[in-house]
Amino acid sequence: MTTDKLQGEYITFKDGEYQIPDNPIVGALAGDGIGPDIWNATRMVLDAAVEKAYAGKRTICWQLLAAGEAAFADTGSYLPEETLAAIKKQLIAIKGPLSTPTGGGIRSLNVALRHHFDLYACIRPVRYYEGVPNPMKRPGDLDVVIFRENTEDVYAGLEWSAGSVEAEELGDYLREKLKVKLRSGSALGIKPMSPEGSKRLIRKAIQYAIDNNRRVVTMVHKGNIMKFTEGAFCQWGYDMARAEFSDQVITEEELVTRHQGDWPPGKILLNDRIADAMFQQLLLRPSEYDVLATPNLNGDYLSDACAAQVGGLGIAPGANVGDGIAIFEATHGTAPKYAGLDKVNPGSLILSGKMMLDFMGWKEAGELVEKALQKAILGRQVTYDLARQMDGGEEVSCSTFASLIVKSM
Ligand code: NAP
Repeated sequence: MTTDKLQGEYITFKDGEYQIPDNPIVGALAGDGIGPDIWNATRMVLDAAVEKAYAGKRTICWQLLAAGEAAFADTGSYLPEETLAAIKKQLIAIKGPLSTPTGGGIRSLNVALRHHFDLYACIRPVRYYEGVPNPMKRPGDLDVVIFRENTEDVYAGLEWSAGSVEAEELGDYLREKLKVKLRSGSALGIKPMSPEGSKRLIRKAIQYAIDNNRRVVTMVHKGNIMKFTEGAFCQWGYDMARAEFSDQVITEEELVTRHQGDWPPGKILLNDRIADAMFQQLLLRPSEYDVLATPNLNGDYLSDACAAQVGGLGIAPGANVGDGIAIFEATHGTAPKYAGLDKVNPGSLILSGKMMLDFMGWKEAGELVEKALQKAILGRQVTYDLARQMDGGEEVSCSTFASLIVKSM
């Protein structure tokens, strides 16, 4: 663990609010593979934006934390206790991609981090940046923020391989006690979804819509088939919204029955859509959607599909947020074939850094980052992934692209 020489102060969290000092200590996990390249580029851009926005009155004191393959080589652990303890103290951190260790033990370091800190909301804003090559006629029509539940559903890790003792015992129980028809030798998985887990995620999505002047929150579920899990997710969402947000939110049904279709000014509309139809809706009528609240698996699929609509994962940012801890992260993986080549697009981590600045309330710096990235893309000197699809695009390295972003501020 290494800390900047500058003396920083810890961020605190009290009564549901973060208190951010002017020199916060923020954790940084560079990650594996291309992680160090994109982290160095990101740090250059974020530091420049903060300096430009606040003229030295504010500075981030980065504390570099070990995780992934480098940590394993040094300490024998992919996620050392020291790193987990540091994040617990820092409350806000940013991370590059981590490779999934092969062999037994940890399934995924990212999932392990989410579970360890109960980071129950995976938040992914997806919007179009002009000039980014994309497959759509009007890519700018899509501007959504996806809130994906991060701890439950088929991602809970409750599954047993075909023929295992556990699968056979569970199969016997289901056949005997619940009279379920089940082939012997089946692999089995369990899909837990709780009222508490669903409501807290949908609550966060609604609160985000209120705080950020968004107009619609759509719960995306497959409740027509999975009535007691995904159907209940949606019903719990409506129940919670009626109980906690009745002044700010109306449902689609209330819009018709109580307001004759006239949307009352200032109210957020809460509706729901079946997951398969939603993929179609986001392609055909993207401008009707705004904030999406989804169970774990739907959110995983939808966020990548949305990112593809506006030009792919190379510039899609994300955050995993709980109550009092938030980790901002690149949404792509470690792309090992490009590791150390100073080649890949740092946009995803840079925009995750923009999300982090906004989250800290440092919106002026966040805005500088986003506008400068947009300007740099329009300059057509971009990393290989964008250059290869852009008319007249010139390929530059990861670090040069970051310098061009800084120059555009
Ligand atoms: P990946 O690392 O995301 O790479 C797949 C492809 O996506 C790359 O070959 C490259 O495409 C493109 N790409 C990814 N990042 C890019 C960037 N910054 N700029 C430009 N292009 C980029 O997926 P993977 O190869 O399936 O996974 C590799 C490792 O990452 C695995 O160990 C996986 O578990 C892990 N992973 C980690 C995270 C995370 O930490 N959040 C997420 C996903 C996967 P081209 O080949 O077309 O150039």
